[in-house]
Formats: sequence, C-alpha cells, structure tokens
Amino acid sequence: MRIITDWHLHSRFSRACSKELTLENNALWCAKKGVNILGTADFTHPKWFAEIKDQLVEDLPGLYRMKNPPISPLRKGGSEMGGPLGRGRGAVKDVRLMMTTEVAQIYRKDDKCRRIHNIIFAPSIEAVEKINKWLSDKGFNLKSDGRPILGIDSEELYKNLKEIDDRIIIVPAHAWTPWFSVFGSKSGFDTLEQCFGEMSKYIYAIETGLSSDPLMNRSLSVLDDIMLISNSDAHSPRNFGREANVFELEEKDLSYDTFIDILKNKDIDRFKYTIEFYPEEGKYHADGCANCGFWCLPEQTKKLGGRCKICKKPMTIGVLARVSELADRQIKTMPKNQVPFKSIVPLQEIIAESFGVKSTSSKKVQAMYESMIAELGSEFDILLDVSIDTIKDTSDEVIAEGINRMRTGNIHIRPGYDGIFGEVKIFTDKAPSPKAKQDKLI
Ligand SMILES: [Zn+2]
Ligand SMILES: [Zn+2]
Repeated sequence: MRIITDWHLHSRFSRACSKELTLENNALWCAKKGVNILGTADFTHPKWFAEIKDQLVEDLPGLYRMKNPPISPLRKGGSEMGGPLGRGRGAVKDVRLMMTTEVAQIYRKDDKCRRIHNIIFAPSIEAVEKINKWLSDKGFNLKSDGRPILGIDSEELYKNLKEIDDRIIIVPAHAWTPWFSVFGSKSGFDTLEQCFGEMSKYIYAIETGLSSDPLMNRSLSVLDDIMLISNSDAHSPRNFGREANVFELEEKDLSYDTFIDILKNKDIDRFKYTIEFYPEEGKYHADGCANCGFWCLPEQTKKLGGRCKICKKPMTIGVLARVSELADRQIKTMPKNQVPFKSIVPLQEIIAESFGVKSTSSKKVQAMYESMIAELGSEFDILLDVSIDTIKDTSDEVIAEGINRMRTGNIHIRPGYDGIFGEVKIFTDKAPSPKAKQDKLI
C-alpha cells in the first residue's frame, strides 16, 4: 500500500506556529491531506511531550496512534474518509505518528559561527524520555521553544544520541537554506564531513527543503550515496504534506526500523518518490533583498557583485546559487538509481488562483477545498490520482485545468527570495484560464 510520510513540522509550542496544532487536529488534517505517518514534532518541549505521552499509544513498533482518535470527517454519501468508499488511505484512526523533532544548534567550529538545524528521529517514547533528560541535565532550555536552541556541535550531539540509543538518527533539515542549515551560504559547511566528522557515516539522508528539489541536489556527486527526503516544515496543519515522502509498503512491515533501513540501505524499491514544492516557490530560491523587493538569478548577482541593485547592501544569496557553487556536474534528468520526485502545487493555492483571489484562507476557497475533499478523497488523491474529468465534474473547469497544468509542469513562478515565498501563476496572459478564453470569444 502507498504510505505517505511527513516527518518535519512543528507544534503550537514553537515560535510563530498556529494554535491549531494539537495532536487531534493534526490527525484530522492528515486524513484530509492523505498523510499516513506524521512526525510528532517538538518532542523536547515538556508540555507537548506530556500531551504525546497522554494521547498516543504505540500501535506498531515505533509508530504511535491516537488513543481516542477524533471522529473522521464524512465523505459525501456518509462513509468515513478513507473508509470503504475511499481508497483505503487516510482514515483518521489510521494516522500514525513517529517520534521526530527539529533542534536549532548554534556553535563555533573552525573559527566560524555555525547555525544548523537538524531533525532527530527516535524509535520510541522511552528513547525520547532519555534524550530529554540528557538535554535538561546539560542545562539546555527546552521550555521556551518547541524547537530548542542548543549550543552544541553537530558531531558531538550525534555521538551522544547514539550512546542513548543506537537506533536514533539525525537528518540535516532544509539542507540549503542560507541562515540555518548544513550547506547554508551564511553559516553552514561545504561538506557533510566538515559538519559531522566521524559521525557523517550515519548521515543516511538530508532534507532538501522547500527551495531546492532533488534534481538540483543530484548535481553534487558527493551526495550520490545520500537519500533525499522531503517534509513540509509546516507551522500550521493546513500545510502538512506540502512536501512529503511516498513509500510502497506492506502493512505488516510498517515500523520505525523499516523506515530507517530504507534510508540506510538506499532502498529505491520501497521508497517510490518524494513530493516537492516547485523549488522556485520556496522563500530562499533566488538571490535578493527583501527590504527593496529586489531579486535576481545567480548570473546577475555576479554582475552586481552580490549587492542589491537598489540599496547596494549585500543580498541574501539563495539556494540556487549555493547549490551551483558546490555542484560538480550538470544534470538534466534524475539518475535511474535515485528516488524520483513529483512537483505539486497545494490544492488550496490552485483553487485560489482559479477563483482569482490572493488568499488561500478566503471563505470561498475553503468551502471549495472542503467540498472537493468530501467528494473526491484526500488532497493527495486529488493532486496525484483522480482523473481530470472527474475533478471537472465535481469542482469546475478552471480548477480541473489548473490541476492538469500542475501535473504537466505547465505553470509560471516568480521565484522566492530573502524570506519571501515565490508566487505561482497557473493562468497567465500567455496561458489564460479556460473561462478567460471563453469570455474573449463572447
Ligand atoms: Zn528549521
Ligand atoms: Zn536592497
């Protein structure tokens, strides 16, 4: 069966995160989105961890579910989402959670200040208890943020975690973002070895982040033996699964260890593909200056000497430039021995664009989103599987055409830069919506 995982997100105890992030809401949103396995996030936070212990029960080895799952939204016709009428995925009671968290590390190495975000995967609540005790004993403040700031070197952190439980792994988070990542242009490293030293042999995967896609990453031959994973890094349940990992697994094989084995052994038979943002949409794809609203691509950055054309201050160098700086080859298609990917645009964005409204939180957009989910299945079913004709029958022609163009990559994007998200344009002057075309004929 198809299993979709999203391992990196945050709880309501992390800075700038939605109050809606409760375990109960998270399970409901996973059903809507079609995410089968979600990271718990933020397990170092005492209040959030207390909720995890109180509300979750181990269901399969290292995989937890809600003790009292909330009632599933009903599909039209009265069956439970993901139930008999669905495709067998996404029922709220079947949503499982895995112990994952992100930590922010700030430390000096080789005479430079490093700011690195890492994701920690832990095999059980018991292992998390030990991690939290060790971190508290070291005097780190775990209470003020769900993503705690730790003044500890990445290699040292990994060594200690392996001593606590050798099934724990670290995956560098959003590996290319300028300010907080292992390869970041501002305070990262040029290689995994520089960052993790002798522990780099236990780095099985890196997270590509929203601003880069696997194809870009594969232009570095040093990453040939590293898996690329994708997660939402969501700060609100609405964004779960905007990037995700898709596996083909038997129900009986589902466990924490199975996923770690797949990453460790580069099992491309079971790791089918990742689901990606168009990287241009990510908020650090191009180079730019948010203050002046100025962005450009790396070639122009060079001509400008790295400075903003308007205020002349240094621009924030984005992921595209940083990847090409470290790349040692040009790649046009994904190598056959690597996990492929599919690029999506979140359904709410497609609906908003087809209605010609800017905000996805508009009532009209939300009403259409909910009705499509009730009628057609989870968001992933709609984006990936359901036929365009069926979508047209249950929503409208413009939304169906929007999904069609997303599936074929026929969209335009103003790239994101310096913390500002890119903007997707499915319907442009060159490729107008079917309705706009009709209007012209009339
Ligand atoms: Zn982060
Ligand atoms: Zn500027």
